[in-house]
Amino acid sequence: MTRRPLVAGNWKMHKTASEATRLIQQLAYSYDDAYAGVDVVVCPPFTALRSAQVTLDFDTNSPLRIGAQDVFWEPSGAYTGAISAAMLRDVACSFCIVGHSERRKYFSETDEDVARKAAALTGEGIAPIICCGETIETRESGGTVAFVTAQIEAALALLSASDAEPVVLAYEPVWAIGTGRTPTPEQADEVCAALRDCFRERYGAAAGEAVRILYGGSMNIGNGDAFAAMPNIDGGLVGGASLEAESFMALVKAFS
Ligand code: PEP
Repeated sequence: MTRRPLVAGNWKMHKTASEATRLIQQLAYSYDDAYAGVDVVVCPPFTALRSAQVTLDFDTNSPLRIGAQDVFWEPSGAYTGAISAAMLRDVACSFCIVGHSERRKYFSETDEDVARKAAALTGEGIAPIICCGETIETRESGGTVAFVTAQIEAALALLSASDAEPVVLAYEPVWAIGTGRTPTPEQADEVCAALRDCFRERYGAAAGEAVRILYGGSMNIGNGDAFAAMPNIDGGLVGGASLEAESFMALVKAFS
């Protein structure tokens, strides 16, 4: 089976609504039909999602899709500051990142939280991009595969096989995020292959073959092609390099 590549830009806490509009317009302008085989997703901050929706609505041919960076699992209620999956759907989000290591580190997000978020998203027809990744200490102790597969097993705990169909996995070593350091493409592929096995054991051979697995962590123009050449890496979750149209579209090109 050939999996459709996906390149998602995680803008983190960057870009005001007007800056987001400008970048989305630049991305749409730099888009080429040669990239038509790739799903291209931008994940602006919450405050720019509506602007992203309006900008893309205006350009009816735009292939860009919108994702969020987080969600709360309850459908509504007295949860000050929280955003529900239905609210994300209302601003045209078709993807949402969950379990990013920065959410785990700075907002104490647990594996159980990630599982609830993933379930809330699939319930609204939004595809969760479920992140996992080890620290440098875990990598150096040889525990990477056991650690990340445990994270993914926990994140999938509430999803049936049909719920899990839209799920995207993202392998993002914590030590590679924003540091300029990366595993070799072969090392990243080995971990992605293990994640695929984990999905296969849980949901069956066809699901394991179909699930899209992204690599993320200091991916850039210089290394994108090498990651894209790996058999188990189906795209990228891109931080810093997604903040400029030129570097982001270069990574889209690498996977096309
Ligand atoms: C990320 O945080 O998802 C990420 C991959 O960041 P960067 O590309 O900047 O390392």
